[in-house]
Amino acid sequence: MSSQTNAYGALRAELREIGLMASINASLSYDEQVFQPKSDAAKNHRAGEMEFMAKLIHSRATSKKLGELIAAAEAEAKSADQHSDEAVIARNARRDYDRATKMPAELVAEMAKTEVLAQNAWATARKNKNYTEFKPWLAKWLDLKKQEVKCVGYKDHPYDALLDQYEPFETAAGVKKVFESLREPLVQLVQKVQSSGKKAPIEIMSRSYDVKAQEEFGRIAAAAIGFDFASGRLDVSVHPFCSGIAPGDTRMTTRYHEHHFNDAFFGVLHETGHAMYEQGLPKSDHVGTALGEAISLGIHESQSRMWENLVGRSRAFWKHFMPAARKAFPKALDGVTDDQWYAAANAITPSFIRVEADEATYNLHILIRFEMETALIAGELGVDDVPSAWNEKYKKYLGITPPDDAMGCLQDVHWSAGLMGYFPTYTLGNLYAAQFFEKAKKDLGDLDAKFAAGDFKPLLGWLRENIHRHGRRYTARELVKRVTGEDLSAKPLLSYLQRKASEVYGVN
Ligand code: ZN
Repeated sequence: MSSQTNAYGALRAELREIGLMASINASLSYDEQVFQPKSDAAKNHRAGEMEFMAKLIHSRATSKKLGELIAAAEAEAKSADQHSDEAVIARNARRDYDRATKMPAELVAEMAKTEVLAQNAWATARKNKNYTEFKPWLAKWLDLKKQEVKCVGYKDHPYDALLDQYEPFETAAGVKKVFESLREPLVQLVQKVQSSGKKAPIEIMSRSYDVKAQEEFGRIAAAAIGFDFASGRLDVSVHPFCSGIAPGDTRMTTRYHEHHFNDAFFGVLHETGHAMYEQGLPKSDHVGTALGEAISLGIHESQSRMWENLVGRSRAFWKHFMPAARKAFPKALDGVTDDQWYAAANAITPSFIRVEADEATYNLHILIRFEMETALIAGELGVDDVPSAWNEKYKKYLGITPPDDAMGCLQDVHWSAGLMGYFPTYTLGNLYAAQFFEKAKKDLGDLDAKFAAGDFKPLLGWLRENIHRHGRRYTARELVKRVTGEDLSAKPLLSYLQRKASEVYGVN
């Protein structure tokens, strides 16, 4: 072995140990959310364990030793292709290391403390439908985030520094450009649907669906589209999520409610999309390195939204699953035609709550948050004006005015948890999903015929080949260009949503 491979090997060994600690923490977190008894003693002890692990991880991830290993690996990767394993691992280790070491320990500690207190204050304020109770905490978070921005640095807009954590290499200007090309056509589409006078029979979704049958049906669908249950689990938790804990161990959760078929079933498809991405990453060989990790939250979300919406709400998908659904839920689906079911699954209705929104209006909820966050961070919007700015935008984009702050600016946990810069990744996910799907259809021929026959393997194979196996080898923008030949664009999502609206509501 030459001295050249030594620096790379040494960096990988160090990253692997940090990766092992991170997966230990992920196991602890999953256990806490799914299996652990709810006693205060158990909860407090677990919080202590996880804080201890987080400290260990932070000290290893910011150590002088790691800095030296990265520098040595960078030096030997200099002449390598920029997309080679060596270059990708060194480059991403450098990014992560620089970001982590730029943050002073006191600021990190202050943020951890604020997270707990601000979330408690937010929960109370939301219960009381009273923004003023949360306002000082939003101001506090903005102050902390501005300090973070200063430490981390940015080129163009302070929001870039925050966005970059969730969507590496993306910028406020880049998001703004693509979101603005989406906004007007989408607002018009929703207005046309509203004035079409047609209503989708959404009440079908809130009939009585036996919970046991829902669980069974969800498992069948998850397995059919490609989730490997031998390397994963599906459990129940208060908030659905997916955790790619370790190689061969990907877990996801959902929640069941007798009168919310949508919530659990499409939630399972969503988490299965995330989980299949995790299962497709080359993790066994790459614990702790960039090649075993997802590119960005936006790309992660593109996988969940593709299976949940573009596949899971298609006619072809239900052509295959409708007979099984009729067997599983004979009473709820009694007298329901395939067309009615399709319309119910693809309804477009402006609503106040983001997490309950349909796939079209959902993006307007995100655009509003993005516009408000960038204005707050740039100092163009003050905390006093948050509810009024929020309500004005809902009126303008969705034609509705929230009756109170709980249904308005207090609905999401993100701002109380300091997650500013996170929201855009949801709509970026929808945009990437539509663009990838359009190309997959071109490459794979008649996907609808395959779905109708219950064959989802070609699409999953395409995603594995084009997206999953690369880890963080490419940036999100590079990947979309490489895979589709085009830059990120709002067109595929818009034409997909317009086609749906014309099928269900007869508008075009
Ligand atoms: Zn998701």
